[in-house]
Amino acid sequence: MNIRPEVGLTFDDVLLVPKRSSIRSRSAVNTATYLTPQIRLAIPIVSANMDTVTESEMAVAMAQAGGIGILHRFMPVSRQVEMLRRVKRAESYVVEDPITIFPEATLAEARQKMSDIRVGGLVVVDQERHLLGMLTSRDVRLALDENERVEAVMTPRERLSVATASETLESARATLYARRVEKLPLVDVEDRLVGLITARDIIKLREHPQATKDAKGRLRVGAAVGIRSEDMPRIAACVEAEADVLVLDVAHGHMEHVLETVRKLKGKYPKVPLIAGNVATAEAVCDLVQSGADAVKVGVGSGSICITRVVTGFGVPQLTAVAECAEAGRRLGIPIIADGGIRNSGDITKALAAGANTVMLGSLLAGTDQSPGAPVVRNGRRYKLVRGMASLTANVARQEVDKGEVEDDELAEVIPEGVEAVVPDRGDVFDILHQLVGGLRSGMSYCGAQTLDELCEKAEFIRITPAGREESGVHDVSLL
Ligand code: 5GP
Repeated sequence: MNIRPEVGLTFDDVLLVPKRSSIRSRSAVNTATYLTPQIRLAIPIVSANMDTVTESEMAVAMAQAGGIGILHRFMPVSRQVEMLRRVKRAESYVVEDPITIFPEATLAEARQKMSDIRVGGLVVVDQERHLLGMLTSRDVRLALDENERVEAVMTPRERLSVATASETLESARATLYARRVEKLPLVDVEDRLVGLITARDIIKLREHPQATKDAKGRLRVGAAVGIRSEDMPRIAACVEAEADVLVLDVAHGHMEHVLETVRKLKGKYPKVPLIAGNVATAEAVCDLVQSGADAVKVGVGSGSICITRVVTGFGVPQLTAVAECAEAGRRLGIPIIADGGIRNSGDITKALAAGANTVMLGSLLAGTDQSPGAPVVRNGRRYKLVRGMASLTANVARQEVDKGEVEDDELAEVIPEGVEAVVPDRGDVFDILHQLVGGLRSGMSYCGAQTLDELCEKAEFIRITPAGREESGVHDVSLL
């Protein structure tokens, strides 16, 4: 039998040993990190590409908080693209493609468009995009006749304040304030619409100073994609919709097919950051990085809803996998994402101390208001659904997306590697992230680490016994 000499460890097998620290307050530490060499995050947290965790609402919140969300891929391409667009539009100082309407449209059509795309106003333009006016939801709400034309109700061009594409944030704010208006259209020399600045976006910029933004000031978002030839149109569409990073979503990422796909995608889209995974060994990290991956996702069988280890017998306890992969990642200058098995802020600190650059969270975020999981009430308590992406029901949903229907014999072919479950309703994701990042900050101060690099350098782990683990939790008291 070929057996490794060392024992595989996971989060509960160890604790971090407190170190001499000059840090006086949690607020004195810096949690900034890199998802890929191109993408900096203010907090090292990524929401998982699962259909009960990350759709556009979660992705917006994650990026606003300074992390990032990865949209799952178990939906039609058009829906994933619409979600990418929604995130990119959610917060930017200049909306580059404002939603427009023609003056001949009816108020009923305008109302429908506003509710479909979830915007509070439309810019009225002609066929050549010359600016003709603005229509806000308030104009539409107060009008009596649904068949009235937009041009009869809009604020016409001559009463609008406008600016050029080079408008600065400060001067836009001053104009919006002075004129007490909500929206400032941007026009070129021929008075054609080239953008829009809204008061709401400027306020949001101030609310989320740590937000993860692209070079144009828009929130960043990732998209999960597959590696089959049928997945290529999805990849092209996500690149076209300006996904900030693609995540190759494969249970066993150390497959030659994955390496080939990484090479092919980096050849075709050299500028789009690519995360590959999931893997659990240094050798896999080296192979993926040599093929061109910009970051590697680590975790085989570690997820809360995952039964890969039971079904296949394969996996590496997560802390050992992270430590081994991170050592390779550091040598190659490539960040590592610790994916799966994280249950609290202590686990986050341990994963980062073991060398991960970010952590990916699934079930820990699945109970929040921003997750798409269905709410459930059990014995008077509120829960939300979470399911493994290799669970039976997720397989059914995927086949429905791919083929429109699922045959019974195809269902019998499925060997699930995930389960369906519920997690307690946890409320607003911002509150959860605040708790998690607060715990990490405290952890960094116990280590005397001002930065995550220092945390990794200074960290010393100690293995513990079952008695030590029991001592680490609440014990010998009855909880209220
Ligand atoms: P959690 O944070 O819930 O412990 O783990 C989330 C991670 O579990 C995901 O990011 C993904 O890597 C993994 N995962 C999600 N669904 C499945 C599944 O059905 N099977 C397996 N093996 N892993 C899954």
